[in-house]
Amino acid sequence: MSDSPDATGSASDPSRSRHNTAVVWFRHDLRLHDNEALTEAATADNLVPVYVFDTREYGKAEYSGARSFRYEKTGIHRTRFRREAVADLRESLRSRGSDLVVREGRPERAVAEVAARVDADAVHLHTSPSPEESGVEGAARGALRELDIDARRYWGHTLYHVNDLPDGYRNVPDTYSSFRKSVEGSASVRAPLGTPTLPPLPDDAPDPGAIPPLAALSGADQPDDDRGVLPFVGGESAALDRVETYLWDEDRLREYKETRNGMIGQGYSSKLSAWLSEGCLSPRYVESEVDRYEDLRVSNDSTYWLLFELIWRDFYQFQVAKYGKQFFAPGGLRERDDISWRVPAEDDEAARQFERWMSGETGIPFVDANMRELNQTGYMSNRGRQNVASFFANNLRIDWRRGAAHFETQLVDYDPASNYGNWAYIAGVGNDSRDRYFNIVKQARKYDGQAEYVTQWLPELDPLPPRYAHEPWTMSERDQAEYGVELGIDYPAPMVDLDQTYQKLR
Ligand SMILES: Cc1cc2nc3c(=O)[nH]c(=O)nc-3n(C[C@H](O)[C@H](O)[C@H](O)COP(=O)(O)OP(=O)(O)OC[C@H]3O[C@@H](n4cnc5c(N)ncnc54)[C@H](O)[C@@H]3O)c2cc1C
Repeated sequence: MSDSPDATGSASDPSRSRHNTAVVWFRHDLRLHDNEALTEAATADNLVPVYVFDTREYGKAEYSGARSFRYEKTGIHRTRFRREAVADLRESLRSRGSDLVVREGRPERAVAEVAARVDADAVHLHTSPSPEESGVEGAARGALRELDIDARRYWGHTLYHVNDLPDGYRNVPDTYSSFRKSVEGSASVRAPLGTPTLPPLPDDAPDPGAIPPLAALSGADQPDDDRGVLPFVGGESAALDRVETYLWDEDRLREYKETRNGMIGQGYSSKLSAWLSEGCLSPRYVESEVDRYEDLRVSNDSTYWLLFELIWRDFYQFQVAKYGKQFFAPGGLRERDDISWRVPAEDDEAARQFERWMSGETGIPFVDANMRELNQTGYMSNRGRQNVASFFANNLRIDWRRGAAHFETQLVDYDPASNYGNWAYIAGVGNDSRDRYFNIVKQARKYDGQAEYVTQWLPELDPLPPRYAHEPWTMSERDQAEYGVELGIDYPAPMVDLDQTYQKLR
């Protein structure tokens, strides 16, 4: 793995001739299938699986660098999902005679403590390209080095392995199409690994510890909203069930390309993102299932398109590996300094608009419905994400990272590369992006013709015919009286004149 960002890989282990103990440190790889760190660690005589809830990921944090701000890193939806994923992993390990040691604190300390306590020969872990996670990883490696314990790192979260990139990650193309063609043309996706047989815990295994209560991590729980696309349940078991349901039981893959721009219900797209982000699901496993589906059911544009989207996911992962912190800077990869972003801390109007955007009270129904879905459920369709992000970054011109950070808090499927990469792309500071923006009302009419989606999340607009549900500001006072929907009372008047904001962009 010489070319992986900061990754070493499985060197042959001279200590294998004697009794040895391995620690596997689970991070965003909460699964047993296709898990190289686990598979390698499982060749030891004893194995200690560990997971650490990193307290820095919960509660308020600083978005550092230029024009820093504070925000909540992990909201209730993802915290709940992650706890479930850890609990599921523990169950699976227990059913195989092992266990999961759970700690709360700083992983770099907790992992080293466990490793020292069991006199481990090596700690096996998956590496991550995003700066925060690789910072934690670097600190953990430092602590292990002091203890003279090997840290063995693997790359396991993308479809294409970093070592299989035609020109290495440092030379990865900066546009999606070139990237896709390069990997499709000269790399292949490795076959997923199976679930290994696990060696026992050592006799002096540490206390397994408890999974911290939800309230201790992210405050009060939020009840499920039955309008959500899916009850996202964390864990490998639910992830594999979802693949089974989407591909095999409901046979939806054959029409994915035609349905993927939908907005209501579980079936319009795969909904695999949250499991992929927490690593409950391996993208290579998904690919192998798509292959099997193509052999057994049908091979068409739709079956290919799911892989096409997974390559988008890879694209952002390798872009983060290549650009590091620059990926998260206001000017993005292009280091643009010609856009003057409005900063809520310095501009009262921008601060008010930011609040209204976050809470889904902008007075523009297509934006508000999507933001309310996000806040209530932790999920939003890709179509919705593109529109609310474009509205924020282009029509409002508020610092795009503030919008992205709100997504970071709320999304059940948050991933640093996919989130900040897509935001930067839409804000015109990423690679592969022209200055592009969405015409929100046109999009609403096209993708929600009958205003079913908008009225699902904004029931106050239910009495309106679709054209008014999408543009309530075009109603006269008489219309408002006729339909019983008064602007500024039942639903907000728009906080900006959309047409005017577009004129500034042209
Ligand atoms: C502003 C913005 C922010 C986003 N933030 C995230 C995020 O934090 N985490 C995340 O996983 N996705 C993010 N996406 C990408 C995309 O919206 C979601 O992956 C998708 O909506 C999840 O639903 P799905 O699993 O049903 O997707 P499907 O349509 O079924 O796609 C299959 C898989 O392909 C991958 N994928 C699809 N589209 C993209 C894309 N544009 N970029 C990267 N990967 C993609 C995802 O892993 C997804 O699960 C973001 C998109 C935008 C526009």
